[in-house]
Amino acid sequence: MTDIHATLTALAKRRGLYFPSTDVYESVAGLYTYGPQGTALKQNLEASWRDRFVRREGHMEIESPTVMPESVFEASGHLDSFADMLVECAACGESTRADHVVEDATDIEEAESYSSEEIGALITDHDITCPTCGERLAGQAVTDFNLMFGTNIGPGSSSPGYLRPETAQGIFVEFPQLAGYARNQLPFAVAQTGKAYRNEISPRQALVRVREFTQAELEHFIDPEEDEPPIRDVADVVLPLYPVEEQQHDDGTLRELSVRKAIDTGVIGSTWIAYYLGVSKGWYDRIGIDMNRFRYRQHLPEERAHYAADCWDAEAKIDDEWIEITGFAYRGDYDLQKHANHTSKDYSIFRQFDTPRTVEQPRVDPDMSYLGPKYGNAASDIADALSDLAARTPDAFKAESVTVTVNGQAYMIPREKTGFAFEEVTDSGEQVRPHVVEPSFGIDRIVYSVLAHSYQEDVIDDDQRTRLELPVELAPTFVAVLPLMDRDGLDTYAQDVADELRAEGFSVAYDDSGSIGRRYRRQDEVGTPFCVTVDHDTLEDETVTLRDRDSTAQRRVAVGELNDVLTALHADERTFDETGTKVIT
Ligand code: AMP
Repeated sequence: MTDIHATLTALAKRRGLYFPSTDVYESVAGLYTYGPQGTALKQNLEASWRDRFVRREGHMEIESPTVMPESVFEASGHLDSFADMLVECAACGESTRADHVVEDATDIEEAESYSSEEIGALITDHDITCPTCGERLAGQAVTDFNLMFGTNIGPGSSSPGYLRPETAQGIFVEFPQLAGYARNQLPFAVAQTGKAYRNEISPRQALVRVREFTQAELEHFIDPEEDEPPIRDVADVVLPLYPVEEQQHDDGTLRELSVRKAIDTGVIGSTWIAYYLGVSKGWYDRIGIDMNRFRYRQHLPEERAHYAADCWDAEAKIDDEWIEITGFAYRGDYDLQKHANHTSKDYSIFRQFDTPRTVEQPRVDPDMSYLGPKYGNAASDIADALSDLAARTPDAFKAESVTVTVNGQAYMIPREKTGFAFEEVTDSGEQVRPHVVEPSFGIDRIVYSVLAHSYQEDVIDDDQRTRLELPVELAPTFVAVLPLMDRDGLDTYAQDVADELRAEGFSVAYDDSGSIGRRYRRQDEVGTPFCVTVDHDTLEDETVTLRDRDSTAQRRVAVGELNDVLTALHADERTFDETGTKVIT
């Protein structure tokens, strides 16, 4: 199998997984439509994500708008710096990601972290050419291109807005409201799945880099001093880690460490990140990512945002390329701080002390019967200045007299007239700015990786067959019902079987066209785990043939037991060989 991208593109179009949108008018790169099979697969994947990361963890989920006002992105920093480097070819006019052409032509792996001047120099030094027309790019300006799609909210241009480039901001902005729903108790986490939009310079490889995609993000708000994740739940999970040191040696060696060991040896700096790598590894395995083509790669220091303490990407290998499918970042208090600075709202949480703390605080109680007659209108400003001074420099009150300046004039006040004293104050807690731990999943890239890793070719009865070895949970169709022939009552019997299974809640396909062999192949190709065949014996003995996708083994099952058998298979409570009786083919 050589070019899995080309193979998948053909399969995806033929069988309704996904295909380029609006082709009938014009093909616009980076916009895809999921067909019937792909939509079902993606929905199943999202349901699985929700089950693992929201329901099982007991987190909240919200749905915020996909278009938001400019002020949000001004605060978040996207307006200023959510940009990629672009170089335009003077000959053909095509724009290309400047860092990518450098990566393709050199040994540099993370050219994104270089400045545009450095990238420009590298393009010249390596005499890099345009990937579209082959002309030299040397000397062309490398510019920053903001990836956000802009629009106006309402008529006119007075209210600029942007399609969100990530779902996360919809959560951060609403933190004050969401904290209330969490009863102002840390830690708590909020999830959101939905569309994100990035005007990518060079979309590529079908679903891998598109301009509209689906994210599933989780923002876990924690008290950095007090909160720890339930590490024991994942302590023994072994992680395929590709830490910075290994990347610098450049031999691609992975370190297989348990979550516990990775924390104890300091390979993963944050217990929270370690926790999410542990949880997610189980999930990737569950959805059919091949664990031999999977790793967690740590961000190189130059790749990491300045505020992020530790970042790892989950990566899946497709052909020879490693593709980032999820980012895990310890973001500190960066996001909440930004929104706090740009609004008058409280982006913090009150942390109650275990026992109230008593501290001595300096304060003044100036003698106004002295200050008033002596300084007239300036008296109250002098009192305020004394109060400020006590808070800032209590030692100033050790002298016999204290000097304060009001409106440029110095006043010397005898200490006994200031009423200076230390007062005991009891605090029951303090305001804490939560830190954020963010696992950010790219659903489309995960769909694509699952397809690439589940794609199999084998030979059955001298016949080449293609199959998607999708886990039952993700398969667009769970069971296909096939009448052996389209007559003799087999069709109506099969229709009834299909209706009954649908009523039970299974996703069921009905197919009566073509030879039974071809119909099996059609289902194999879209990953349907089981087929039920109704034949002439069915009319006699009320049994059907149940066929397993991967082994192609067949068992004879009583129609009356079909629901129970399929329910058990769906829940993975029974193996295929434990159902009905074996059919010798
Ligand atoms: P980021 O915010 O860039 O870390 O992206 C989070 C996740 O979204 C990544 O791990 C990818 O899986 C996914 N992603 C980012 N950009 C794209 C894109 N243009 N097309 C498809 N998926 C993307």
